[in-house]
Amino acid sequence: MAFDSGLSSSLGPPACEKDATALQFIEEMTRNCDAVQERVLGEILSRNAETEYLGRFGLGGATDRDSYKSKVPVVTYEDLQPDIQRVANGDRSPIFSSHPISEFLTSSGTSAGERKLMPTIHEDWDRRTKLYSLLMPVMNLYVPGLDKGKGLYFLFVKAETKTPSGLVARPVLTSYYKSEHFKTRPYDPYNVYTSPDEAILCVDSFQSMYTQMLCGLLMREEVLRMGAVFASGLVRSIKFLQFNWRQLVDDIATGTLNPRITDAGIKKCMGKMLKVPNPELAQFITKECEGENWEGIITRIWPNTKYLDVIVTGAMAQYIPTLDYFSGGLPLPCTMYASSECYFGLNLNPMSKPSDVSYTIMPNMGYFEFLPHDPSSPTPISRHSPPHLVDLASVELDKEYELVISTYSGLCRYRVGDILRVTGFHNSAPQFKFLRRKNVLLSIDSDKTDEAELQKAIDNASVLLTEFNTSVVEYTSYGDTKTIPGHYVIYWELMSKDPGNLPSHDVLDRCCLAMEESLNSVYRQGRVADNSIGPLEIRVVKNGTFEELMDYAISRGASINQYKVPRCVSFTPIMELLDSRVVSAHFSPCAPQWTPERRG
Ligand code: AMP
Repeated sequence: MAFDSGLSSSLGPPACEKDATALQFIEEMTRNCDAVQERVLGEILSRNAETEYLGRFGLGGATDRDSYKSKVPVVTYEDLQPDIQRVANGDRSPIFSSHPISEFLTSSGTSAGERKLMPTIHEDWDRRTKLYSLLMPVMNLYVPGLDKGKGLYFLFVKAETKTPSGLVARPVLTSYYKSEHFKTRPYDPYNVYTSPDEAILCVDSFQSMYTQMLCGLLMREEVLRMGAVFASGLVRSIKFLQFNWRQLVDDIATGTLNPRITDAGIKKCMGKMLKVPNPELAQFITKECEGENWEGIITRIWPNTKYLDVIVTGAMAQYIPTLDYFSGGLPLPCTMYASSECYFGLNLNPMSKPSDVSYTIMPNMGYFEFLPHDPSSPTPISRHSPPHLVDLASVELDKEYELVISTYSGLCRYRVGDILRVTGFHNSAPQFKFLRRKNVLLSIDSDKTDEAELQKAIDNASVLLTEFNTSVVEYTSYGDTKTIPGHYVIYWELMSKDPGNLPSHDVLDRCCLAMEESLNSVYRQGRVADNSIGPLEIRVVKNGTFEELMDYAISRGASINQYKVPRCVSFTPIMELLDSRVVSAHFSPCAPQWTPERRG
């Protein structure tokens, strides 16, 4: 039954008083989008007026948009890197923010092969927590009764490091799960998880996943929603069940915990939960898992699941068919759009089809500007002719933009690198479809590999071929997510000047590893620590294959003069052509090097 709050919300009737307040907040923010943006910019500029960064641009204390836009440049991470390095090295003067930098959040976007370091201030948690608090009230509008059960969410912390000056550097969600905001969250019947905090906070990914899955199985009938941050994580969890169900069933049948689980905190809480053997449940899970057919496994084991809470927009769309297979097509609401730099907004229509998902940027989260993006003529930014950036409330329907943000922690007119299209408005706040991240060629999990990184990896691997007088004449790539975990596939056409001395299978395997060693740290972490990316594969194709590829493109209307080999492919006929010409396939024989410490 809907709660009668007496407050009007065009979103729908709230489920309880708390939801009414949250929906009212969304209404207020979206009705006053431009005024909120003006206030946010004013607050950011007045509190940071004395910072070294803003001081460089002669704002003279001005807090209005015109002064800001005319004086402060639009920047990328590389522009800020020297100052960020100063903070990392221990400079505690107010460079970016008048508030002290509390830690660095490590983005999955990289610069020079390492995660970007995003300075953050303690107070940012209030804004992020506020955005989190809006998600369930919106979900409750569409799915009633979520307070009558639990969420099976696979949530993980990742390794953290310290900068030379001792500031912690870690991913934003690791920071969140370790914070008091998460650990001492008040009880909320709409937000009860099956996973104990001890399991979420365990850095050993096997022990963490095992325990979370075990709890999910023990409470299977209570589970009303299942999720992970990104779709790739949920797919991996189901694969984990496929590999480990026998041990899990054993624990359930005997009421004991797998000896591989050694974490003291987990052992203590699981000891209580596993006290009584449950042979019926063990038998049921065995029956469901022992067959070859895993179609619909999610709804077979967790019959009350109403939806899968995962992000399937952007690069994650490649996992939709696999999730549909495992769940029999349960809804896939993408609830929010966020980054290490700033949390942006939420999806006000979460039950829409993944292809129709739009995010409403909440104007209280930061100051947002939009660089018009014309896919046919990407304009480089020149300091001499500054581009005209559009305000949040002034973007136009159907136009594409690159997102530029200014944050309370001191990023000023920072290019996030996301390309968005305006699809509509809620009140006066625009809604955006996430189109893509600029320059990303390959992405399996949170890794993002661009063309230059791929080229460098090919160059490094090719060195192993020189003693065989062999070179890579053409290449392209493909993110293969049919395997779990997914993996990079690189198609190589080789030219050998010495047919009597061709590189052996073993040499080509080592080329795969050499490529992996050159890829960025997020990729290598996915391979080594998270197990979220499988071994890289090189498929050697017959000579002449890339010429056939060109003929095919030209037959479909490409211009001969302008034809460039695509460095990443996904179009089925092209994949079929390439795969039909494969002469040998090679995989990395072992994992590349990775440690949490930054290289260089
Ligand atoms: P990170 O820098 O690792 O915090 O990752 C943030 C980036 O992930 C964003 O800038 C987007 O490119 C991507 N991202 C975050 N949320 C979504 C979403 N809901 N849909 C698509 N991409 C997203």
